Amino acid sequence: MKIIMLGAPGAGKGTQAKKIAEKYKIPHISTGDIFRANIKGGTELGMKAKSYMDQGQLVPDDVTIGMLLDRISQDDCQNGYVLDGFPRTIPQAQSLTAALNERGEKMDYAVDVDVPDEAIVNRMGGRRACVKCGATYHVAFNPPKAEGICDACGDSLVLREDDKPETVQKRLTVYHDQTQPLIEYYSKEGILVTVDGTKGLNEVFEDIVAVLGA
Ligand code: ADP
Ligand code: ADP
Ligand code: ZN
Repeated sequence: MKIIMLGAPGAGKGTQAKKIAEKYKIPHISTGDIFRANIKGGTELGMKAKSYMDQGQLVPDDVTIGMLLDRISQDDCQNGYVLDGFPRTIPQAQSLTAALNERGEKMDYAVDVDVPDEAIVNRMGGRRACVKCGATYHVAFNPPKAEGICDACGDSLVLREDDKPETVQKRLTVYHDQTQPLIEYYSKEGILVTVDGTKGLNEVFEDIVAVLGA
């Protein structure tokens, strides 16, 4: 099964993508996590991405598309995958569609996790992220077992630099300009599913499973 997660920054794409990956035994591919791992590792790709990410801008398509297409051609992707944070622009979506077409494949679902901007700003201030494994928590809505420590890997949790309020506003503007048009793109492709992302974590997941199938 091949799934795309759509939604504003902070809508809960990553949270749901991890649950989907676990249930359907497919890899969770987050372009944000890949960029952050590269920044941490000091790679050339990381250096290219960092200034854009810090400013709440998108990393240019020419960097992002190649990286993602490379990732989904790896062996562990043969039975599908869940894409979290890609595509984020129409050209990214078109490149993905074209690359899959060449192999006679297509995406199965694009799941839009729908959350209004007002709720996003609250969520981001409480988000805590593990830089090592990409797990995310929320101080109120999804706290880790021990404060500041990742349940999954034991590393420490941080408030991401780009989750500070000024940058969140910027990212929301970028989302509305560049990413929201993908909702119509996938609606036309006939694979769009919309879920109400303002519900609790588990309810949102149940709504997604109701569509994807047990
Ligand atoms: P969130 O989960 O809050 O939406 P991500 O971790 O997905 O944030 O992305 C963090 C940042 O990484 C984005 O603001 C952007 O700078 C960059 N990024 C991630 N995915 C893409 C993409 N597909 N295209 C361009 N930039 C991206
Ligand atoms: P995205 O990947 O779309 O940027 P995340 O999955 O990282 O979003 O979620 C953003 C923040 O909101 C995190 O702190 C997460 O724990 C929290 N969160 C996710 N889903 C919900 C939900 N349904 N209700 C309340 N908080 C949520
Ligand atoms: Zn971790």
